[in-house]
Amino acid sequence: MESRVEKQTGGSGVARLLDDLWSLRTRIVDLTTPLSSSTPTLELPEPFANLIDFSLEEVSAYNEPGPHWKHHNIHTGEHIGTHLDAPTHWATGQNGKDVSRIEPARLMGPALVLDVAAEADADNDFLVDVQHLRAWESEHGQLPDGGWLLIRTGWEERSGNKRQFLNNDADGTPHSPGLTVECARWIAEETALSGIGVETVGIDAGTAAGQQPPFPAHHYLLGNDKYGITSLRNLGELPPVGAALIVAPLPIVGGTGSPARVLALVEDS
Ligand code: MN
Repeated sequence: MESRVEKQTGGSGVARLLDDLWSLRTRIVDLTTPLSSSTPTLELPEPFANLIDFSLEEVSAYNEPGPHWKHHNIHTGEHIGTHLDAPTHWATGQNGKDVSRIEPARLMGPALVLDVAAEADADNDFLVDVQHLRAWESEHGQLPDGGWLLIRTGWEERSGNKRQFLNNDADGTPHSPGLTVECARWIAEETALSGIGVETVGIDAGTAAGQQPPFPAHHYLLGNDKYGITSLRNLGELPPVGAALIVAPLPIVGGTGSPARVLALVEDS
C-alpha cells in the first residue's frame, strides 16, 4: 500500500527516507551537546588568548523593549561546544575553505564508530593509532569515501563537569585521548574520509602540544581539506557502521568554525 509520504512525493528515495522516519524504522540520534554558558570549552594556557564562552544577552522579553516578543543577542567564540573546525582554523589550512565554503555534501555521509572507551578509561592519554583503524577495517570493511570517523572515548560522561572534562593535571596540562601523529597523517592523506568527530573538547589529544608536529589532527586534517567536530555525545547509540551523519554548522562568511548541530540517522533493528 502506498504510504502517506509516497502519495505526496511520488515514491522517490527521499520519500522512502521520510516514510522510514515517519514510521520510526529510522531513528534520529542527536549527537549535539546543548549550548549554554556552562558548556565546557577549551582553555589555552598563557600567553595564548582564549575565545569567549557562549552567552545569551536579553534584548527584550515580552516587556517594554519588545512587548510582544522575546529575543537575545548571542555572544560566542566560533569553537565553542559541539562545533566544526574548518580548514582555515589551522595554519596548514589557511589557504583552504572557511566554514561557509564547505560543500554541504561533505557535511553528510556514512558515520563510522571506533569505540576506544575502555582504552581511554585505562589511560586518559590514550592515542588512536593506524593499527586500531586497520583492525576496525578488517572487521567492518574499508573506511568509505566521504565518511566521518567518530571516536567514542566515553568522554561525554565527563561533559557535565568542566574539571573532569578538561582533566588538567597540577601543571595545567590536559589529559584526554586523541590521535598519534602517524594516525592523523594517515587519515588525512591515505583515506577519503570527510573528517573525524570526537567527544572531547578538541580533535587533538590533551597533550598534543608536545607531539611533533604539535596538534597533529589539526595540522594534517585541516591542511588536507578534512574537517573536525568536537564535544559529541550519544555515540554509544550508533552501530559501528550503517548510520548516516548530518553536520550543520552555520555558514559564517570568513569563519574558521561554528557551533554545529550534529545528527545521526540510525536504522532501528
Ligand atoms: Mn575547534
